[in-house]
Amino acid sequence: MRLVLLGAPGSGKGTQGGLIKSRHNVVHISTGDILRENVKNHTQLGLEAKKFMDAGQLVPDEVINNMLAGKLDEIGDASFMLDGFPRTFEQAQFLDEYLSKNSRPLSAVFYFAVPDQEIIARLSKRLTCKSCGKIFNGDFDSCPACGGEMYKRDDDNENTIRNRLAIFHVNNKSLLEYYAGKNILHEIAASGSPEEIFERVSVHLS
Ligand code: AMP
Repeated sequence: MRLVLLGAPGSGKGTQGGLIKSRHNVVHISTGDILRENVKNHTQLGLEAKKFMDAGQLVPDEVINNMLAGKLDEIGDASFMLDGFPRTFEQAQFLDEYLSKNSRPLSAVFYFAVPDQEIIARLSKRLTCKSCGKIFNGDFDSCPACGGEMYKRDDDNENTIRNRLAIFHVNNKSLLEYYAGKNILHEIAASGSPEEIFERVSVHLS
């Protein structure tokens, strides 16, 4: 199984990715998580990516494509799910070219559709647990799942959120057209509880 999760920042891709992973044997590859790990560890890639991430802009295609290819090389034939990649038409083409070398096309693309106003409200309240990585929207002193310390991502402030959303809309249209043309796109209404949304996804995963 080779999946792509598309959706605005805060559309619930990460949460759905976690649920898919808990039921299916797939490697969850989040380009945002890999970049944040690199920023935290002060790697060359992290230093290069940080200025784009802080401004809510996309890291250049060439940098991100190389990073993704490295990760895909690492996992070999394993099933995978991409969360946060592709973000541009060029990235989508790069991915197809990479996968076609081993005759392993994508199985399905899920687009999590959420109205912008709901996204802004969600992201302004989004907190992540430092221990288990789970994401919650609301006012929490500690993680409701494991009791760990919660933190707010640097790029979850209103200006950056608006920037990220604007960039998302510019690129997303061409991605949706591209995958609809390949008959592998499933649009999922992504308002509601994570479990309700996961049920809508599961219909296409059996
Ligand atoms: P995310 O956690 O997916 O919201 O990603 C956080 C930030 O990492 C984005 O705002 C971008 O700056 C960068 N990023 C993550 N994935 C990509 C990608 N596929 N292409 C370019 N930049 C990315």
